[in-house]
Amino acid sequence: MQSTMMNTPLTTAAIVRHGTTIHGSARVRTLQPDGTVRSGSFAEVGRRSAQLAHALRSCGVTGDERVATFMWNNQEHVEAYCAVPSMGAVLHTLNPRLTAEQLVYIGNHAEDKVVILDGSLAPLLAPALPQIPSVHTVIVTGQIDLTPLRRDGVTVLGYEEFLAGHPETFDWPEVDEVSAAAMCYTSGTTGNPKGVAYSHRSTYLHSMAACAADGLSVTGDDCVLAIVPMFHANAWGLVYAAFMAGADLLMPDRFLQAEPIVRLVSAERPTIAGAVPTIWSDVLNYLEANPEHDVSSLQLVACGGSAVPLHLMQAFENKYGVRIVQAWGMTETSPLAAIARPPAALDPEQHWALRATQGRPVAGVELRLMDDEGSVVPHDGESVGEIQVRGPWITGSYVGEEDAEKFDGGWLRTGDVGRIDERSFVTLTDRAKDVIKSGGEWISSVELELLLAGHPDVLEASVIGVPDEKWQERPLAVVVARDGATVAPDHLREFLTGKVAKWWLPERWCFVAEVPKTSVGKFDKKLLRAMHARGDLAVIDL
Ligand code: ADP
Repeated sequence: MQSTMMNTPLTTAAIVRHGTTIHGSARVRTLQPDGTVRSGSFAEVGRRSAQLAHALRSCGVTGDERVATFMWNNQEHVEAYCAVPSMGAVLHTLNPRLTAEQLVYIGNHAEDKVVILDGSLAPLLAPALPQIPSVHTVIVTGQIDLTPLRRDGVTVLGYEEFLAGHPETFDWPEVDEVSAAAMCYTSGTTGNPKGVAYSHRSTYLHSMAACAADGLSVTGDDCVLAIVPMFHANAWGLVYAAFMAGADLLMPDRFLQAEPIVRLVSAERPTIAGAVPTIWSDVLNYLEANPEHDVSSLQLVACGGSAVPLHLMQAFENKYGVRIVQAWGMTETSPLAAIARPPAALDPEQHWALRATQGRPVAGVELRLMDDEGSVVPHDGESVGEIQVRGPWITGSYVGEEDAEKFDGGWLRTGDVGRIDERSFVTLTDRAKDVIKSGGEWISSVELELLLAGHPDVLEASVIGVPDEKWQERPLAVVVARDGATVAPDHLREFLTGKVAKWWLPERWCFVAEVPKTSVGKFDKKLLRAMHARGDLAVIDL
């Protein structure tokens, strides 16, 4: 029997229509350099998005051409999120922390035609632009001198000038829901970055999962602080979720340090926020040194991208009443795939043990564990395997690439290694490329890092595998001590004793001022390994 339900397409235009009309009075609030906050209603964002779409059409953007953004989190970027996919083009969010070489590779691979550029980022894009010949127009926000960006064949215009005079409504075309709405590139820690194209349908369904009470629980009563950059896996879905739910969006622009974030939270009182653990760890330190600030408005902090230390979650919850919920995902998974929400009625110890996991899959996402021989590994909480994932917002391929190795019979191979327990909670032990194999046995770098981060004198710690004559590889712990603290390596080794198997205990230690981070704020272990190979790390061998 055929269903008689209407088959209206699930598109970003549907989200934008809903958000800008039903929730037209919700607001995008953007932090400005002078510390004030400017505000635009969703209705206004809708009108300006329509103008942006007309302006893009009038400069020749048709079909599924790519319009890149090179921007921070602000109202103009939200306008691009609304206009570009809804007009049928593809929004390509570029990461300003990439090197010029990576930008050139990605811009050419995506064949970007137009770039919407945040004026403050012009010096970073300028060296790459001449080598991306597909770009014919650059639209620049903010007040800057446009001359250095100008060259033959490229039109450079100010954003407001570009929008001016265009109609404030746009008849969003009906696009196929499985066509591409947006694309992001993976960071390319191994080999070239790979493009992931999100469809309208995947974006719509992912936004619903983000809104769900057991997802990120975004409602019309919320104010969502999106610290996670809009170029990092679509700001984890927070922007479209806010448009669906009618939640205010609070945007920190480029001010991602602890101080402006804490001031913004104190003043604007967001209820939901999302950012990687390093940001929250900086925020915690800042709060401890500046107790006059109040962050208690935050009811849910979504945190992921790397493992979230248990002590960080407990400190926020016990001292500030702020609940940090760990989530797991990747650019390829839109990104929300799993979330650590333990069932009710557990004792505190069991509750926290599950809060420290990467969570269990949200509805729509399925996970399985596979061993090296291609057999399914049981979900018994002990057996370790590679996590594979599938679902309607998980990518089935990379743009323009045959990458059969990354897929297995309709499942995405995540490259993450871990265990899954009987309740389906996932614990990641490592990324496959970071695992440490010592004397034929695995050592989890993530577990060691989380334990070390729990030491009161340790600000952050990253653990990498380094070559060893006897054991092939041994762990090297790279540690940053808290301000004013000195920690001896044998003391830290002692601290770990009893918490992990004896042969996991690192004998090599290195103390640094800061652990280098990737473009999205994770420990850059590839760089650490290279630094070690070059002899740039001063290693203490116990
Ligand atoms: P990048 O590849 O630059 O790190 P992604 O954000 O796509 O960019 O990274 C996804 C990866 O981040 C996952 O495959 C996983 O290794 C790691 N990750 C994401 N969330 C968590 C988490 N909660 N705990 C541990 N690792 C995580």
